[in-house]
Amino acid sequence: MNEPFNPIILTVNSRLARWLLLEQDEKKRNAGEKAWETPPILSLSAWLREAWLGSWPTLYLLSDLQCEKIWQQIIAQDAARLDLVHLQGVASQARQAFTLIHEYRLPRDPKLYELTDEAKTFRSWTKKYEKRISALGALDPCMLMDAVKNSMQKGDIPLPPSLRLMGFEEQSPQLKIFLDFLLAKGAHVEFISPVPAPQTLEEQLKDHPAHVREYENRQGEAQACARWVRSIFQPGKRIGIVVPELEKYRALLKRELAAELVPESIFISDEQILPFNISLAPPLSQEPMIKMALNLLSIKTTVVPISAFLSFIQSPFFGFSYPPDQEISDLERKLRRKRVLSISLDQFHPVSGSQLSKFVESLKSWTLNSKSLLSGKWAEELSEFLKSIGWPGKSMADQQSVLSKRHQAFEAWKDCLNELCSLNQILGPIDRLQALNHLTNIIQGKPFQTKTPEHSIQVIGLLESSGMQFDHLWVMGCHSEALPTHPEPNPFIPYEIRSKCSIPRSNPQRELKFAEQSLNRLLMAAPEIYFSFPLHDGDLDLEISPLLKNFPKNEAAVYPSRRIKDQVMVLNDLEEFAEPAFLPATDSEKTLFKTQGISSGYSLLKDQVECPFMAFARHRLNSDRHQVPEVDFDSLDRGNVIHKALELFWSKTGNLKNLLNLSEHSLEQQLDQFVREAIKICSERTSGQTQFNQLEIERNVRVIHDWLRDVELKRPDFKVLRNEEGISIDLCGIKLLLRIDRIDEIPEKGLLLIDYKTGRNAKPADWFAEKIRAPQLPLYAIAKLPAGLAYGHLTIANPEFKGTTIPDLPLGKFKNTDFTQSSEFTSWEELLEHWKNNLNAVADEFLKGNHEVLPINKGEPCRHCEFGSLCRIREIANLETQEDIP
Ligand code: SF4
Repeated sequence: MNEPFNPIILTVNSRLARWLLLEQDEKKRNAGEKAWETPPILSLSAWLREAWLGSWPTLYLLSDLQCEKIWQQIIAQDAARLDLVHLQGVASQARQAFTLIHEYRLPRDPKLYELTDEAKTFRSWTKKYEKRISALGALDPCMLMDAVKNSMQKGDIPLPPSLRLMGFEEQSPQLKIFLDFLLAKGAHVEFISPVPAPQTLEEQLKDHPAHVREYENRQGEAQACARWVRSIFQPGKRIGIVVPELEKYRALLKRELAAELVPESIFISDEQILPFNISLAPPLSQEPMIKMALNLLSIKTTVVPISAFLSFIQSPFFGFSYPPDQEISDLERKLRRKRVLSISLDQFHPVSGSQLSKFVESLKSWTLNSKSLLSGKWAEELSEFLKSIGWPGKSMADQQSVLSKRHQAFEAWKDCLNELCSLNQILGPIDRLQALNHLTNIIQGKPFQTKTPEHSIQVIGLLESSGMQFDHLWVMGCHSEALPTHPEPNPFIPYEIRSKCSIPRSNPQRELKFAEQSLNRLLMAAPEIYFSFPLHDGDLDLEISPLLKNFPKNEAAVYPSRRIKDQVMVLNDLEEFAEPAFLPATDSEKTLFKTQGISSGYSLLKDQVECPFMAFARHRLNSDRHQVPEVDFDSLDRGNVIHKALELFWSKTGNLKNLLNLSEHSLEQQLDQFVREAIKICSERTSGQTQFNQLEIERNVRVIHDWLRDVELKRPDFKVLRNEEGISIDLCGIKLLLRIDRIDEIPEKGLLLIDYKTGRNAKPADWFAEKIRAPQLPLYAIAKLPAGLAYGHLTIANPEFKGTTIPDLPLGKFKNTDFTQSSEFTSWEELLEHWKNNLNAVADEFLKGNHEVLPINKGEPCRHCEFGSLCRIREIANLETQEDIP
């Protein structure tokens, strides 16, 4: 039995209980003790639960999840009638109202609930809820205190001889009744209020000096706070960081504190235990291995979106090698090249016996599972499925700390499955996707962070800080929007009741009083206190909380940074590393360029001219971007379809004479047929989208029709010699593989090389610049020695035919750029010779290994370049700007 001088200490929350236990442990340790009994310190709710469960009760205590599900089921019956969109949100508000009724002994007079629809509906839900839990023989957690009192009254639960309550800023009527009962029964009850005797904040300030600091933004505030912690941190010193809007600061503070207190923690492979505790853990669903499992489980059919499929087989969580092996990389490349949007598991047959084949087979049978089972059975089924495909992945012996985090996440996952099992009786038989939906809700609501020992540095919310004492305290984010907070009255509690009874978050006066009370308490919580606030939140200007207006301001002290980045920057003896400007192609690279060649070879020259590093990354490092295809036709598809349809058309029609002989009707018929065929060949992935395809057919027929009518039919005689002709050309030992869209023969003049364009960007002027940004047609010219080069712009209603040619080449409606005017060359032969020399020089520069990060035209190519993170152009630009600052 506990003596009055050794009472059970009951705290307002488990955080305070852990904090007090830490204090006790430190006292014992400092007193030289080696072992000691754990003092009876626990949260009030944990104590009530223990007492209730220890009495072999007749009523079963519902979990929070079970209560929520019952509320959701009751409300779902009215959801359609009431047009409810967010069922979970409404259920949570209704449950909160029910709890308030019990804790604050709110009146239940039916007349008061008749005044609004919300209150009326809530009353009918409450009746159903009470009936349901009574039928289940269950007890809602908000009724637990009353039930324990009744059991004590009956003698089923023994009376505690002595209690000390800590951290309660106020006593709810339910708690008051309970404590009065204990006192009446002779128990010794001590209530230690963390709130000082009524005093104004100004009066408090005289005895407990505090200062306010202002910062530009939250980032600056968090950074200064982390550096302050670093500057005062000593073993055993208790440091508190209290944040009213912790959800907005959590990630920021965690990052800054880790960077200052354990700088080496920025290296992922070297995960460290952080020397602070931080509240408001993110949900378990954000853990990568859990997120991936939920994504996989939620696949609805055997047709899986390609991005999801690739993310599964490339992740380390499903038994595949990590990083992905050759089989997976090859498969990705194949699928990306095909530009498919989804993969059908029924038609996908990997090598039998491989991990991929096991994965596909298991996933297929999971998606076809159409049973109706109790939620507990679903927990078993989905565990079996995940186990069969190797989730949560192979262990990595050299990553113990990561493993440990993974292990804890796995344990938390199992807890969630247990919670799912606990819904058997409440939900009854459900299907696979319903079970998954419930599991996802459970996981999304489960906070998760790696369990660490209690530390003397605590980052906590305002409510949580109740009852805690520190040696140093910083209260952050004290702007007028956060302190006091805005009221959030529960819509199911009628206004008349809210205005009479003092319910949390019900009105501005109560919030103001609560904020004042909290500040009074915090002023006594440490000998050294700083308050701070950010001046801006994005574009929003913020002001200091009105409650702190009269607090003395304090110039923000500058603390040195311990971050690795800043440590490096302050070193005076930095070694200068000069990258070699040239990395010549190796012999094996040269052999490969010569024998295998480079497809779309003109792009090598184009890249080298636009930015040498781009050419280096794409053609020597073989980096490439796998573009995610659009759901319907994208610009690449459109270009391919136009090219293919024109190829089919001219292969059949052959020359101007045949074109002239086609009637309007048969021309349209042929175009329709060739465009359909082209779509079938070029855009297999959109074959099921009949309506999109029809629109595309109509559009492309019109584009080609306008081109033939406005350009081709107005040309003097010509013959189409070749369509899509593949050629290769050797420049400085590099074999460039090229494809010429079309080669026409102009009688008695020579060849005209045509490049089709579906956009409007191509300009013949680019061929005459010192750096040839559009080397495609000049390259073809080196190989074919033509009489002219032309772009064919195929656009609806406004096709364009333009280029440059020898003098007097008859081409009809053609915009000729006179090369003698636009360049320094007076003859066509000179121009061809210039192109040959110029493009050879570019190829030579590539082979010599010029890989400078030097984009032309003030970085214009960077706008569409995917190598920004590889070349680090932004970082280089930032450094240069810093160096320019005197
Ligand atoms: S992002 Fe700009 S600088 Fe970097 S490789 Fe691309 S073009 Fe060159």
